[in-house]
Amino acid sequence: MAASRVRDDFQLAIVSLLGLTTLLTLSGFMLWRSLRGEWTLAAFDALVILAIAVVVGRAWRTGRTDAAGGLMALLNSGFCAVACVLIGDAASGWVYVVLMTNFYIARPHIAAWCGALLIVAATMLLIVPDASLGRLATAITWSLVYAFSFAFSRRLRDYSDSLERRAMLDPLTRLPNRGAMEAHLRSLVDDRRQPGIGLLVLDLDRFKAVNDTFGHAVGDAVLVELGTILRDTLREGDAVYRFGGEEFVLVLPADDDAGLLAAAERVRGEVERRLRSPAGPITVSVGGAMLAAEHDWQDWFGRADTSLYLAKRAGRNRTHIAQGLD
Ligand code: GH3
Ligand code: MG
Ligand code: MG
Repeated sequence: MAASRVRDDFQLAIVSLLGLTTLLTLSGFMLWRSLRGEWTLAAFDALVILAIAVVVGRAWRTGRTDAAGGLMALLNSGFCAVACVLIGDAASGWVYVVLMTNFYIARPHIAAWCGALLIVAATMLLIVPDASLGRLATAITWSLVYAFSFAFSRRLRDYSDSLERRAMLDPLTRLPNRGAMEAHLRSLVDDRRQPGIGLLVLDLDRFKAVNDTFGHAVGDAVLVELGTILRDTLREGDAVYRFGGEEFVLVLPADDDAGLLAAAERVRGEVERRLRSPAGPITVSVGGAMLAAEHDWQDWFGRADTSLYLAKRAGRNRTHIAQGLD
């Protein structure tokens, strides 16, 4: 469980790794200082250990690793500045560590602000009071580490954001794909405070015949056009996905079964009016279900899918909404 969470969530892994390393290192320092009777420094180490442990613990409990990363960057930078006061030049090496690791754990703009403030504080505390060429070089190398880490982390974030976006997009219709839909449905099922919300599953009628008669490229063009029509029918708060093949999914707010039926009919009618293949109009069948007491999205989806089957069986170009938990 813990291993799979760390494997799947890179930021949780990096926050935990950094937290654990800090805890272990500072525990050693705390012990050593306690043995030497340096109680102020030992208490400072204990404070840092406690704060970091609370942040890492919260990240594990809430899963909000972004917030934890930002808080950790802020704490590390603040504690590092205090260390400059308490242990003087010996804190200089920690400035490098904090400047660099901030960019691994926090969003670039938070890491950038924390780092900039730390450089100013460390320069005022360690460099300015006793300026020499060697000390000036230290301040310059801090700035270089900061600048390179900033540029590199921005590049990496942009790249991973674009990969994540692409992984969630269907290349043919440019609609969000099944992965994005699953994440959305899962969040709706988990969030029990949601007001009425409905799910519609749409399936093109006799689509195989279009492919068989006119070829795959024509079939693809029909799918793209259906994507455009569905996008056009969206209202505030609605979402549309290509589930796979010639099946699409709409997630939309609805008061009750009757409201969802009205929405399904509106979409079905719009497709009937606008969608054409070379053989003439092409229609969709629609199955729907309101989110009820389900504990996972598959059950909710399954009820809508059963309704779709009933709509097909009733003759196609129809809608059917699941009644209660049927
Ligand atoms: P029904 O009314 O029962 O849904 O009949 P149908 O012919 O639509 O259903 P069937 O499941 O038999 O056919 C689905 C077809 O969708 C088969 C497959 O060739 C086509 N299809 C699925 N994905 C794509 C795609 O990406 N591009 C194209 N062109 N065709 C696709
Ligand atoms: Mg199908
Ligand atoms: Mg079909």
